[in-house]
Amino acid sequence: MAMVTIIGAGMAGFGAAHKLYNNNLKSVIFERNQHYGGNCASFSYDGGYIFDLGPHLSFTKFERVKELFAKSVNQEFQDIKIKASNYWKGHWIKHPAQCNLHGLPENLLVDLLCDFINEQNKKCDRINNYADWLISSFGKTFAETFPMQYGLKFHTTTADNMSTEWLGPRMYRPKLEEVLHGVISPKTTDVHYINYVRYPTFNGYMSFLNLFIDQTELKLGFEVDTINPKEKRLCLTNGTVVSYDHVISSLPLPELIAKIIDAPKEVINAAQKLSCSSCVVVDIAIDRVDISDAHWIYFYDKDFFFTRLNFPHMLSPNNTPAGTGSIQAEVYYSKKYKPLDRSPNDCIKPVINDLKRCGLIREEDKILYSNAILMPYANVIFDLERADALKIVKGYLDDIGIYYCGRYGEWDYLWSDQSFVSGENAAQKIIESL
Ligand SMILES: Cc1cc2nc3c(=O)[nH]c(=O)nc-3n(C[C@H](O)[C@H](O)[C@H](O)COP(=O)(O)OP(=O)(O)OC[C@H]3O[C@@H](n4cnc5c(N)ncnc54)[C@H](O)[C@@H]3O)c2cc1C
Repeated sequence: MAMVTIIGAGMAGFGAAHKLYNNNLKSVIFERNQHYGGNCASFSYDGGYIFDLGPHLSFTKFERVKELFAKSVNQEFQDIKIKASNYWKGHWIKHPAQCNLHGLPENLLVDLLCDFINEQNKKCDRINNYADWLISSFGKTFAETFPMQYGLKFHTTTADNMSTEWLGPRMYRPKLEEVLHGVISPKTTDVHYINYVRYPTFNGYMSFLNLFIDQTELKLGFEVDTINPKEKRLCLTNGTVVSYDHVISSLPLPELIAKIIDAPKEVINAAQKLSCSSCVVVDIAIDRVDISDAHWIYFYDKDFFFTRLNFPHMLSPNNTPAGTGSIQAEVYYSKKYKPLDRSPNDCIKPVINDLKRCGLIREEDKILYSNAILMPYANVIFDLERADALKIVKGYLDDIGIYYCGRYGEWDYLWSDQSFVSGENAAQKIIESL
């Protein structure tokens, strides 16, 4: 019986293992960490605080995956009607900002509406990049005041250096009537593309993987060092050499290519052009629950240290001890555009200062817990180099018979359910080849 070797025990690795298991095929997963879950891992800390690696909520459109996740947690989950919010220069703005501008400075609103209307009346010019798309969708004033500012903090590069392939439903394009309603009235219809989310009742987001653990041979603490596709062998950093029939990788593509013996220079160069953000997540717990009524908040101001906040205690009452609340801040960097300039722990103080500055933490609040973790791979950056470089890398992997999957294996903006399905799809290709 063919044995399929999978690299990486995140959503994609388990998606691949699950598909193989359902087709009576054996798999082994090599995972370099001592824990599984990849970016969907959750951690329990002393004092009873549970934090995920960045905000993780399930809003999958795949009914099948939804059912699998529910089965994983024995139907013990929270379905939550979510509220997102925005913070800009002391104003709290309902999400999405473009439809909820009520109460912003008068001059700004006049400029913003004039620009929006002007763009509506223009014939759509060619869209060469994300900046063009923003201006044509919202007008120059809104684009430059809000999404371009936020985008620079989140993607770490400017909008004119980005493509638009990643957008999907992420940025709502309102009609003029919707913008006007939002300017006139504080009460508007909810138009955010996510309304309800699902989250495990116990042990954090990682619990959605419970079902799949026994469907594979999981080898934790085993790091793949090199891959020899000609001889179909993996070399692990502990010196073990493993032969494989088929291999599926969920490694970030630049790391995967660097591990392949005799990969051509052209492919190595292309892989090095793929950019990705890193995220320092700062986890904080305080002695109060009523911190925010929004589940997550976007911060636009350049001088605010963090980009986005979420509140894990609002997702499950078991994420913190009773009477305490938790806050998680995301701070983005990238090797290419905004190199990390401090240790993760040095991010804690500026995060707390800015939480006080916007009023979410009060002087009298007691900080019960704080920690910072670096996620080296956060979001794929859709800069203008990505598409061509990716074509070269994927073409090469297809030629040498290495299957790739997941957010960083596909080098795409995949949510966890999409990463799981991407793993399933990679396994399906192997099943069809047998
Ligand atoms: C800040 C943030 C917020 C997010 N929020 C959401 C959300 O709300 N909802 C949602 O659905 N999705 C969300 N996502 C997306 C989700 O995290 C990803 O889709 C998913 O975790 C990707 O899984 P993966 O298996 O493809 O990659 P990973 O999770 O990165 O798994 C790859 C695994 O490979 C291992 N590995 C690496 N190198 C080696 C090696 N040499 N040898 C062996 N193992 C190795 C890694 O340790 C890792 O465990 C978010 C992502 C981020 C960054």
